[in-house]
Amino acid sequence: MSTCPHCKGHLTEGHRCPHRRGLIIAETMLAGLGGGLGGWLLVAAFDLHGQIKDLDAFGFAAGALIAVGLNRALRT
Ligand SMILES: [Zn+2]
Repeated sequence: MSTCPHCKGHLTEGHRCPHRRGLIIAETMLAGLGGGLGGWLLVAAFDLHGQIKDLDAFGFAAGALIAVGLNRALRT
């Protein structure tokens, strides 16, 4: 069974992508949260003693932006 390139669902006859707005928003938020956490952990790993105060928020924001960007790029 092949998969749909848009929604990764099973490509059956008469397949329609489940492009529900709420789902996309929730998924984007999840991606942002996951990316943010990843970026924050990365910053924490490099800055074990918390010497650079603003880097936490920066790492979180950068990770979130990258994750959301990737999520959207993969979707189109
Ligand atoms: Zn689809």
